[in-house]
Amino acid sequence: MSTLITIKEKLWSDLDVEATLDAPIGRMTWYETGGSAEVLISPKSSNALQLLCKRCYESEIPVRVLGSGANLLVADDGIDGVVIRLNQPAFQETRWNDSQSDTPTRIGAGADLMGLVTESARRGFSGLSQLAGIPASIGGAIRMNAGGTYGDTAQSIHSIEILTMSGEFRTIAATELNFGYRQCAIPAGIIIAAHCNLCASDPIALRAHVKEVFEYKKRTQPMSDRSAGCMFKNPIDPSTGKRESAGKLIDLAGLKGKTSGGAFVSDKHGNFIGLHASGCANDVLALAIDVQQQVFEHSGIQLEREVVIWSQRGAFQ
Ligand SMILES: Cc1cc2nc3c(=O)[nH]c(=O)nc-3n(C[C@H](O)[C@H](O)[C@H](O)COP(=O)(O)OP(=O)(O)OC[C@H]3O[C@@H](n4cnc5c(N)ncnc54)[C@H](O)[C@@H]3O)c2cc1C
Repeated sequence: MSTLITIKEKLWSDLDVEATLDAPIGRMTWYETGGSAEVLISPKSSNALQLLCKRCYESEIPVRVLGSGANLLVADDGIDGVVIRLNQPAFQETRWNDSQSDTPTRIGAGADLMGLVTESARRGFSGLSQLAGIPASIGGAIRMNAGGTYGDTAQSIHSIEILTMSGEFRTIAATELNFGYRQCAIPAGIIIAAHCNLCASDPIALRAHVKEVFEYKKRTQPMSDRSAGCMFKNPIDPSTGKRESAGKLIDLAGLKGKTSGGAFVSDKHGNFIGLHASGCANDVLALAIDVQQQVFEHSGIQLEREVVIWSQRGAFQ
């Protein structure tokens, strides 16, 4: 064990956490590729998480949060610092509002979005069905304001609880978060929970809506490829001032099916960069850069990456 790790271990050795050194986090993402994190820590309580964050902050050790890894690519040579995962029961609990009270439903940030979409429809609560088929933790869905044709995450958020990097708990109203297309203005920190306005609704109609949204996704997107969803945000076309489909621009540039090593532009949806089992993170990065350049040459529009990339040197950011 390196001296660096020995020093860092003092950060969590007395805390109620599970820690894995040299953790293969790349393989935990939907790309199933990429390097390791120096340490992956799953805190078992808010108190343990708070103390860990405070200590990392005081020691200037970088902290990152891993959700379900569906919008993330980890560079092949891995990353240093601490990666936190909220996959213990303390961060996955859902407290459903009862129909008599106006209290929003509280959902732990580590909860699985797809499971919640199904469970909320079963219980007869509307507010999440527009997100059917999107792989995410609640924290990741809020951070990215995940969504699509049928709506986004922001529309049911009442407020969120976060832990700032210096270890302070705060509750922030949705109105202060400036949710926009695939973005929001969350201060640096870890989302701990969301309070969602879910309304009583007909479970049969809700289940039909979930099915409709899910089937639309399956029809239009390569859901079984190893990918991180859409690689690029839909850009604003300067000539119209409206968002243009990045997938359409990639298609018009003739890039569907293009490959780089084990990475390929999906034939089904040009904005998905898939990866064969033989490929690596660098193949995806190289292809994404190539696609960006060729779309710019073809349309004059600069694509902005949606997928988050974690790398040692901050390259490709
Ligand atoms: C097959 C497929 C289909 C997809 N379809 C869609 C779609 O239709 N619409 C869409 O918007 N996206 C889609 N995506 C992308 C992805 O599902 C979303 O971006 C999702 O919100 C990512 O959530 P996550 O928990 O996996 O976050 P991760 O990928 O783990 O992390 C993404 C970012 O969020 C941060 N983060 C995660 N948890 C927290 C937390 N608790 N606090 C603070 N920051 C946090 C991470 O640090 C990182 O910066 C798709 C992905 C795949 C693989």
